[in-house]
Amino acid sequence: MGHKQDHPVDSGAVAAGGQPIETGPEVVAEANGAYLQLSDAEFRDRIRAAYRRMAACDLCPRRCGVPRLSGKTGICGAAVKPKVFVWNLHHGEEPPVSGTRGSGTVFLSGCNLNCCYCQNYPLSQLHHGTEMSVAKLADALVELQARGAHNINFVTPSHQVPQLLASVFAARQKGLHIPIVYNTSSYDELSTLALLEGIVDIYLGDLRYTNEDTAMKLSGVSDYVQVAERALVAMHHQVGDIGIDGQGRYVPRGLIVRYLVLPRHSGMAGDVFRFVARRLSRQTYVSVMTQYFPAYRALDRASGIGRKLTDTECDRVMKTWSHSGLVHGWVQDMGEGGGA
Ligand code: SF4
Repeated sequence: MGHKQDHPVDSGAVAAGGQPIETGPEVVAEANGAYLQLSDAEFRDRIRAAYRRMAACDLCPRRCGVPRLSGKTGICGAAVKPKVFVWNLHHGEEPPVSGTRGSGTVFLSGCNLNCCYCQNYPLSQLHHGTEMSVAKLADALVELQARGAHNINFVTPSHQVPQLLASVFAARQKGLHIPIVYNTSSYDELSTLALLEGIVDIYLGDLRYTNEDTAMKLSGVSDYVQVAERALVAMHHQVGDIGIDGQGRYVPRGLIVRYLVLPRHSGMAGDVFRFVARRLSRQTYVSVMTQYFPAYRALDRASGIGRKLTDTECDRVMKTWSHSGLVHGWVQDMGEGGGA
């Protein structure tokens, strides 16, 4: 899901009627990725451990058990090599990620969820993309850095963690130094997230649902809520909250929670905000996305989400926000689409 022209909001700055007030920094501090501190030996151990998990794949909570090292594929559709749809500079992410020069976004092929409304379904569900060597992906990361990217932003990475670790390691040997963003649905296994500690700088983690029945109906998994909440706690434990430095710039390290408001389900907003405030931190940045439009199988009447949000639904979410106790966030205007 993407972001364009995000407007910062804070709990004291949402005017009656739910319109956000713009405040906050626009510039990201320059910083090296945490992975520069990791020894070669430790990095190699992480990569080996990650690849071993693909022998009977349990990299994500699906736990398909398929022998990916033999070229077989599970629900996510990925095998051994990195599979990428496209990479490019992206200016539509949240301000600490896109900054002024753009985020080095790598759109990966495949996904471990099966969301009926996925706006990236040609790559996530239909597996469009190209298999490539780790060395070639590493070259792409270095190229994005040379083009000015603030960071490397892996979109839908959960099922390709071994390949991403290997590509960052190889790219580090070629001079990669910018931070790493892990842009995820949060349907992540804790033991896989542990392999990323000290390598990922910014977690951009969704909290899509707070109701397992809805998650099952719309994304095809029965345990999304418990898995995602546990994963977000682990991500927050690793990197904390995004901070602001002494010059008023975002420090590129921390967790951002994304919440895509779905039609007929805006009532989940209260539970999303409560989870963030109570289980993460009231300082956590929350990105509220109201630009939903029906795509893919959401166009079927049976999905129940075959329309855009109404003004009433958006107002309800913003009023909920104003009572949430949360301090930082952004909201995307209705009707703006695209992005990662
Ligand atoms: S990463 Fe893919 S193959 Fe592995 S358990 Fe998850 S869905 Fe299955």
